[in-house]
Amino acid sequence: MTVFTSKTLYTPLRKIDDALVSVENGAVVSVSSRNQAKAASNKEITDFGDCVIVPGFFDIHIHGGVNCDVMRGSADEMAKFEVFLARHGVTSYFPSTVTASQDATLSALERLANRIEAAETGGAGGAQPLGIHLEGPFLSHTRRGVHPPVDLVEPSVAAFDKLWQAARGHVRMLTIAPELNGAEEVIAEATKRGVCVSIGHSDAALEQARRGVKAGARHATHTFNAMRPLDHRAPGILGEVLTNNQISADVIADGIHVDPTVVDLLFRAKGIENFVLITDAISATGMPDGRYQLGTLEVELKNGRCTRDGNLAGSALTMDRAVRNVMKFAGLSLQQAVRAASMNPAKAVGIKKGTIEPGADADFTVLTQDGEVRATVIKGVLVQ
Ligand SMILES: [Zn+2]
Repeated sequence: MTVFTSKTLYTPLRKIDDALVSVENGAVVSVSSRNQAKAASNKEITDFGDCVIVPGFFDIHIHGGVNCDVMRGSADEMAKFEVFLARHGVTSYFPSTVTASQDATLSALERLANRIEAAETGGAGGAQPLGIHLEGPFLSHTRRGVHPPVDLVEPSVAAFDKLWQAARGHVRMLTIAPELNGAEEVIAEATKRGVCVSIGHSDAALEQARRGVKAGARHATHTFNAMRPLDHRAPGILGEVLTNNQISADVIADGIHVDPTVVDLLFRAKGIENFVLITDAISATGMPDGRYQLGTLEVELKNGRCTRDGNLAGSALTMDRAVRNVMKFAGLSLQQAVRAASMNPAKAVGIKKGTIEPGADADFTVLTQDGEVRATVIKGVLVQ
């Protein structure tokens, strides 16, 4: 039995003062206030002092970091990347593909499936990959961003199944443009297989977006980016994303992809229940200015912006900074910001993570009151 204590803990729905969490075999046994807890004798105690214990962050959209691209990274590079994530408070993540040739995609999916299966049984040296997010190839040509046009594919259940098989069923999230021919069938089939279908990279009109939601889509990918802009007479996909409270929506809160005021607007539209933070970070994250890889593309990092031919190509954002940013941009409390980075993404993708309660996995991030990461605990073990 291991015990962690701190001045404050967010479950994240509840705030606990003078918190005490006991952990055994990687899972939370109890959460209480020190006042109520009986004195522990045969337990190892780690005291985080004035800090706040919060659920570990869960990044459902990330392509890489510290010069590792998840489509190509070796086991060693991935391990280094996962330690980097943990240092920024992330305990779970979905390695996310970018559109590439079929061969490159299939081999990336196989390697990612290996990594996910190894993490299920292995130790916890860093953030845990829990499933794959397929960002493409079923994206709109008009709103593809930097995804290579030659590799975009018209949605079909057969094409989706090929990816699914290569990933040995570890696909847990799919970004798709709902207006494409065949999209509704793929959305329905992916949803049936337990995938969180997210609409994005889309030029959908309102009705097309609604049909995607009717078919099973429940989330929106990097809202506002790579989407038909909101028009007050033709609201398009954003009209649906902003007004349907059955849909959660994520945003890249780096202050570059979306203006801080529009992050505030999204938070007001979605409420704390359906507001999700992602990084969309690429291999350049945590690195000096220079040229880096995003799938099969080369991208330039300069002054915090990742671009290719002048277009934004992923971010260099870390999740702890996203948490601090939304407190500034949209007035979230630390407790709310933490929820948007932990419980909300976990709920959106239907994975049991992101809360601190008896029976939950012991994945914590330890923050200062200002949201700076002081320590990270994964499967009950302090990550060094
Ligand atoms: Zn992305």
